[in-house]
Amino acid sequence: MDDAPIYIDNHATTRVDPRVLEAILPYLTEAYGNAGSVNHRFGADAKQAVDRSREIVSAAIGAKPQEIVFTSGATESNNLAILGVAEANARHGGHMVSVVTEHPSVLEPLEKLGQRGLDVTLLPVCPACDDFAGRVLLQRVSEAIRDDTLLVSVMMANNEIGVIQPIQEIGEICRQCGVLLHTDATQAVGRLPVDVDELLVDLLSFSGHKMYGPKGIGGLYVRRRAPRAKVKAIQFGGGQERGLRSGTLNVPGIVGLATAIELCLEEMPAEQGRLRDLRDLLHHELVSAVPDITLNGPAFASHLRLANNLNLCFPRIDGETLLLSARNVAASSGSACASAKPEPSHVLRNLGLSEDAARSSVRFGLGRFNTEEDVTRAAALIINAVKDLRALGPESALCCGGNCPDDSVVQLGGAATKRGS
Ligand code: PMP
Repeated sequence: MDDAPIYIDNHATTRVDPRVLEAILPYLTEAYGNAGSVNHRFGADAKQAVDRSREIVSAAIGAKPQEIVFTSGATESNNLAILGVAEANARHGGHMVSVVTEHPSVLEPLEKLGQRGLDVTLLPVCPACDDFAGRVLLQRVSEAIRDDTLLVSVMMANNEIGVIQPIQEIGEICRQCGVLLHTDATQAVGRLPVDVDELLVDLLSFSGHKMYGPKGIGGLYVRRRAPRAKVKAIQFGGGQERGLRSGTLNVPGIVGLATAIELCLEEMPAEQGRLRDLRDLLHHELVSAVPDITLNGPAFASHLRLANNLNLCFPRIDGETLLLSARNVAASSGSACASAKPEPSHVLRNLGLSEDAARSSVRFGLGRFNTEEDVTRAAALIINAVKDLRALGPESALCCGGNCPDDSVVQLGGAATKRGS
């Protein structure tokens, strides 16, 4: 069907896999009990499904079942990790370290803590012109840790430029210093092998709808073995999830999450190669026709960049206008989570891209349901739209040309937000 829209925005969300839907349906229809009502059959069945799912989810990331807290998604998991660690240390003040290119669900809780007097250091990343663009340097992490540092939070893979951070190495630094490490692994779980013990992480966030599961379900791994991560609840009520996350469990969501993660693990080896080929094909088609396109983010290497991610700057074109013109291509200019905000992507700006270059950028995310035909059709639609827009005349936006970012460390907290070295 030539007119069908092509969905290549799989960092924003993914389609629920039909096998996941099939697993969920009984828990929306006949097995609708509350997993807390174990005194009758309906509740007991729901609890059994939750227990089984918890085992699957924990095993998928190398954790123990009692270390998984089910949440409504990664936003909540990130908030719980950051605010919960601060809460557990409320009487001692303290300091946290993170990175300027994190998701807003990490940056905003940190900003709130900064306003309440906790010190926060945000580390810069390697600039756009570098093969390691978007990566945080280990030396920066070591230098930022202080005696009163409570937590380091670094995402595993970035949702805009797909850069993969050296989490295991950061984990080694944190363990040596006795500091907790949280990683927002929302874009990584289901796409990359994740083992909390190998990575040396104490807290890890993930979300169902990024791995062909439903929206509104996710989880936080909280390490219970030594060294144990001390986290306090930030919402209160029925005391579910060992008191860490009150609220009736989303049984269909939990079953869907477990099925989704299991399928991702089964298919990961073959799927990674397939997605990489599709991504490379899309890049090749676009660059062949529009040679002044530049790649945003790190080089195409499997340890540096997610296999399904492509983020491109189309000089002299506004990304939003490009996507409106290439009507049947569903991709993203900037990140979907921030799309209510008119500012250009903070991730691209922190790589050193100018405002114009950031606005000229488009993020593509390939996924399980994409075919080679999707990619060639999408490329043709985008190439036509670029030609049409450029034929219209005056340059609408200018591209980066490798401007280097402000690479100083950002300090939040105390009275004011200031930049320091
Ligand atoms: N972190 C990252 C890296 C993400 O990509 C997203 C979703 N865009 C989130 C957190 C928030 O996840 P959720 O939609 O599950 O709240």
